[in-house]
Amino acid sequence: MMLTYLLITTECRGVIMIINSLISNLMKKEIQVVMLPTEKAKSDISKGNKTGFLVYHEFFRGTEGIYTNHTYQHLYFLSDEEIKDGDWFLAFIERKWVLRQCLRLSSGYIITTEHSQINSLDCKKIIATTDPELGLPRPSNEFLKKYCELGGIDKVLVEYDKIQTGDKCSGCGDSHPMNIYSDSGHGCKYCGCFDLSPLYKLQLKVAPDNTISIYPINS
Ligand SMILES: [Zn+2]
Repeated sequence: MMLTYLLITTECRGVIMIINSLISNLMKKEIQVVMLPTEKAKSDISKGNKTGFLVYHEFFRGTEGIYTNHTYQHLYFLSDEEIKDGDWFLAFIERKWVLRQCLRLSSGYIITTEHSQINSLDCKKIIATTDPELGLPRPSNEFLKKYCELGGIDKVLVEYDKIQTGDKCSGCGDSHPMNIYSDSGHGCKYCGCFDLSPLYKLQLKVAPDNTISIYPINS
């Protein structure tokens, strides 16, 4: 993997990307980035109330001096993945994103921990955030710098691990757990069929420092 990345140049990037997607167990998913003001805590990003100017705060977290008129912000990375019990999500209500947590699901609706009920079509799961209180992975500081430099980024690609969960067998017409191959290594051990295709689930790739891997969409 390291070798293929070192070989990347602008000319061969397309080819390398295809080779990588064939040989690696990684894939990138399009993720929406939403910024919302926070009153609870001072975060890594502030926005000028009048200027709209975004500032990355590496050290200073106050609202004095040139930051008198700034409001601190958190970033939320939103995925179309299924929302489950306990998950944090943003709901788009009355043309505004609001932060909520899922208590349980109820036929097309999400019951929140505040016991309100929201149509699940209006909700998007948070996979990462700058808000440490949600206990989720976070973007790198390099990304936050870039986000402020560009005045915001609406969509990014985020890397996921592809984990094989089983095989789909056209003979049985069913999904099997992994290792359904016969002793000789060929074909399904239940029906002998050779038409097997792997099934995957995607799991967010998180580095040891709890950051996700983010890539720009147009490059
Ligand atoms: Zn089979």
